[in-house]
Amino acid sequence: MKYALVTGGSRGIGRAVCLKLAEKDFFILINYRSNLAEAETTLKLVRESGSDGELLPFDVASQEEVDTALNVWSCKNEGKYISVLVNNAGIRRDALVMWMKNEEWFDVINTNLNGFFFTSRALIKDMLINKSGRIINVVSLSGIKGLPGQANYSAAKAGVIGATKALAQEVAKKNVTVNAVAPGYIRTDMTKDLDEKTLKAMIPMNRFGEAEEVADLVAFLASEKSSYITGEVISINGGLYT
Ligand code: NAP
Repeated sequence: MKYALVTGGSRGIGRAVCLKLAEKDFFILINYRSNLAEAETTLKLVRESGSDGELLPFDVASQEEVDTALNVWSCKNEGKYISVLVNNAGIRRDALVMWMKNEEWFDVINTNLNGFFFTSRALIKDMLINKSGRIINVVSLSGIKGLPGQANYSAAKAGVIGATKALAQEVAKKNVTVNAVAPGYIRTDMTKDLDEKTLKAMIPMNRFGEAEEVADLVAFLASEKSSYITGEVISINGGLYT
């Protein structure tokens, strides 16, 4: 059985990715930070799809929590390794730079950028030893284009894009690929405070995307079919100019 870790797998895009990878017969490690009820729903849905999984709670922004959770998993699962890592956990704390508080800057950088680093560093060695692995980073249109009110989020996602390209070159020889997917506006809890009616007028497809549409792209990048794609950032945004 192959093992996939999805950070932020309790809700939204992460849940859809868990379900899509479960359909492809992965055993799913569902990470979340605090929302146990939602994470349990994801696990139930994974099991209903015919695969299996387990909950792996930790805060991706805490190196100590990441290392402890993944070391404990490794010790309990000798001889097994996580071959697919989806760095999906993310938060927004929007504010204009002029008004942005230190914690709004650091919370977003710590979760979206440092979280990528802590989890990827913890798992990359086993992928290299086994000469097989996939890292897929969920970034954002905001990290490509920059969006006003999101200097923290744009910086964090742009940072992950740079790291995706660098890490891809470090590990390519060992059959490990590292790619990013950059969604535009996707209908999840993260966007429920946005004015969809007004914003969708800017989107050529005239609608927000669905988490399942992002999950299909992630599942392709997690599969053998994407074996010659690495260091790429693939936009999924209904034609929104980037
Ligand atoms: P969401 O519905 O708000 O879900 C966020 C997920 O991340 C939850 O599972 C949450 O866990 C988890 N999480 C947050 N902070 C965490 C932490 N420190 N440690 C571990 N888990 C943490 O968000 P979403 O819309 O699905 O977004 C998923 C990813 O897509 C994010 O990286 C986001 O930046 C990116 N994205 C989203 C959109 C969009 O339009 N929705 C667009 C572009 C990019 P809990 O349930 O425990 O809180």
